[in-house]
Amino acid sequence: MRITDIRERSTPVSRYADPALRSGDLTTSLVMVTTDAVRAGRRVTGYGYASVGRYAQGGLMRERFIPRLLAAQPDSLLDATSGALDPRRAWDVMMAGEKPGGHGERCVAVGALDMALWDIAAKMAEEPLHTVLARGLGRGHEVPARLRIYAGGGYRYPHNDLERLADEMRRFVDQGFTHAKMKIGGVPIESDLNRIEAAMRQLPAAAHLAVDAMNAYDVEMGLTAAARLAPLGLWWFEDICDPHDFAAQARVASTYARPVAAGEALFSLPEARLLDTHGGLRRDRDFLLFDPVHCYGLTGYLRIIEHLTQQGWPRSAFWPHGGHLFSLHIAAALGLGGAEVTPFAFHPFSQLSDRLRISEGHVDLPQQSGIGFELNPDIMQAFAAAFA
Ligand code: MG
Repeated sequence: MRITDIRERSTPVSRYADPALRSGDLTTSLVMVTTDAVRAGRRVTGYGYASVGRYAQGGLMRERFIPRLLAAQPDSLLDATSGALDPRRAWDVMMAGEKPGGHGERCVAVGALDMALWDIAAKMAEEPLHTVLARGLGRGHEVPARLRIYAGGGYRYPHNDLERLADEMRRFVDQGFTHAKMKIGGVPIESDLNRIEAAMRQLPAAAHLAVDAMNAYDVEMGLTAAARLAPLGLWWFEDICDPHDFAAQARVASTYARPVAAGEALFSLPEARLLDTHGGLRRDRDFLLFDPVHCYGLTGYLRIIEHLTQQGWPRSAFWPHGGHLFSLHIAAALGLGGAEVTPFAFHPFSQLSDRLRISEGHVDLPQQSGIGFELNPDIMQAFAAAFA
């Protein structure tokens, strides 16, 4: 088996179902990796993208990571015994010569390519990715047929915010979600409390709603927000302050007895270690939201999981960010707490697939080979348009 071509394109993604609403001109990188292998009469092609919420990383891919993969001896990317593509060996090829530190956003470039390589590995095995991962990682546990999920969204609307926020939460519940997350921090806490009240009314209980401050607060604002949020009994309080301000994070967490969540904007094992050592997080209640794609792909994410579980973190604390099918497979195969889905944000990556049933806060896992992007016509149309 040989990789014959790797292509990438940037594409805009909006936080709103209506892309006309401005949301920071976010983009992501689409990746398509073609091979000379054939399975079930079709050329094996891997698809990936750079998750959502940040920006495309095409320059780094074109200049460093794609040329390294294409220049590698084909055998150097394969498992020595099975002859199958081994994304972990491909990861070593991509990272050859990269210096420690300077994680920046190269981890996102590597992660997008890594996703497409795992799609190929699972398609070559003619199995869903979660099956390949559960076996390959030697976890020795049954992959469940369904996985816990929650609906992420609740961005502030420029007009009719309270009404539209409540409507969005109601539609989450109608779709089968039991838990949801909304954004706060863009307006004074008094206004956010009104928004939280409007969202909470649509959910079974306050403990079903998480709030995400999107790293907007300084220490004082974080302390004020924590004091006002504490009596509500929310599910979790996420991304309180600058992701690298571990002192502020620890200070606020020390005053907030309910769970906090962090890690979404940290992209490497060294950063995860710093968060664990200095961020004041509590293993008995808090949540870790690292996005496998943003953390150098599965190989980087596994290093974080391995380290933090050795430090005493339960696997149930990990709820990967991003709302993508890749996280779904990983969370199921590794026995993590669950995963985020973004039902109305980040089209065409909003819905997982209308062929995967959502009910009682769980989703059916994809059962066809690969990651399963082929189950979602909107996503496949985006890939087809990008690489026509
Ligand atoms: Mg967040």
